[in-house]
Amino acid sequence: MKTVRKVLIVDDSEDIVEYFVQVLNRCTSPVEPIFALTHKDAIEIINNQTISVILVELLLHDACAKRLVNSAVVKNIPTIVLTSIQDKKESFQKLNIVEYIVKENRSSLEYAADVLKRVLKNYDTTVLVVDDSKIAIEKYSKALKKLNLNVVSSNNAKEALELLQDSTTKISIVITDYNMPNVNGYELTIKIREKYKKDNLSIMIVSSMDCSDTIVSCLKMGANDYLLKPYNDEMLAVRVTNNLELLDLFHQTKEISHRDFLTSLFNRRYFFEASTDIFNNIQKSDKAVAIAMIDIDHFKTINDTYGHDIGDLALKEAANILKHNLRTSDLLARFGGEEFCILLDRSSQEQSKEIVENLRQKVEENVVKSGDITIKYTISIGLCYGKYKNAEEMIKHADDALYIAKHNGRNRVVLFDDITNAHCSISK
Ligand code: GH3
Ligand code: MG
Ligand code: MG
Repeated sequence: MKTVRKVLIVDDSEDIVEYFVQVLNRCTSPVEPIFALTHKDAIEIINNQTISVILVELLLHDACAKRLVNSAVVKNIPTIVLTSIQDKKESFQKLNIVEYIVKENRSSLEYAADVLKRVLKNYDTTVLVVDDSKIAIEKYSKALKKLNLNVVSSNNAKEALELLQDSTTKISIVITDYNMPNVNGYELTIKIREKYKKDNLSIMIVSSMDCSDTIVSCLKMGANDYLLKPYNDEMLAVRVTNNLELLDLFHQTKEISHRDFLTSLFNRRYFFEASTDIFNNIQKSDKAVAIAMIDIDHFKTINDTYGHDIGDLALKEAANILKHNLRTSDLLARFGGEEFCILLDRSSQEQSKEIVENLRQKVEENVVKSGDITIKYTISIGLCYGKYKNAEEMIKHADDALYIAKHNGRNRVVLFDDITNAHCSISK
């Protein structure tokens, strides 16, 4: 379960509050917006609740803005100032806030929304800093912690590679010094790229060498960015944020290409990609697996009787039932239309039969409700269990068993027996 993050918005403008409620509603991770009209109320809230981010207007009816920002920073609550006051930037930045944004137009609101979402994401984002100077590491850490990032560090390339491999938390970006004894930042980049690709891990090299040949070679060898020294915190922040946003985009594109739009389950393409890895692993261990093909019974009748939208709703409910009654290790995909496929790689034949029979029963018990309409429907399942080289052959056998299940009256599970080549019904 993901922690629900409380976001405190301190502003007396209805438009601003409404804008950020919409922004937070669209967040994919769980967030709870909380509001305060005065700084005094906001201080009370941060003293009594666990707040994950504050967005604050300085110009309100009370004059406690500085006290609020101070208290928030002392409590390590990332604080974003979004204000109509133009000339307080320097004095507030000294307080270690995330950003000081002047409300000028719609773009400044959109920028503040991006910063807010980034800070929320950074609770789960880790940066690895590699530098032989302890002072430099401290400087990076201070600047990165302002962005609410988790920071791990090392003073040499060898240990950095070990950290990448062993860290229990996923590292998203490596910031490495160029000049280091033994292995420098350029050589470290080459080593990292042997294992970690650009869509998974970002690398930023930092150096005082303003030499185009060096910069070009670093970028060609897999660095995503090259930051010149001396840098200021704001420059580091914007470059790190841009790189993290690119990683997010890579991730989103992957998600879209792996998922079915209607049900959000994995799609057929992803099923074959992931099952190839699973089969490669089980060849080594000589393990048997199960594949089940599932098809909704008389689904066309639901569409014909109630319309396509209700059909879609029934499909989504079936997908949810399957998802919530499987283990996270089971691979579930929508194969197309009203057909789903499951790969169970951690079960005996008996367990596999029980798991899919339970799915059949859960769908049979479910009632789809929409307005005055209530619908019940069933599924048929073909199951194949055994030691096979790939998913294709098992799917074919599971499909044959599914055909028999349909032929014998639907709403049942049929197991393909790979010894006798016969099928047996296992539903009561
Ligand atoms: P059977 O018990 O033999 O499987 O009969 P059936 O009616 O379920 O099977 P058939 O293959 O005849 O019909 C499947 C229907 O599923 C036809 C198609 O229009 C519908 N369908 C496929 N994809 C979607 C979808 O995304 N949304 C909706 N609402 N219907 C879909
Ligand atoms: Mg069907
Ligand atoms: Mg079908």
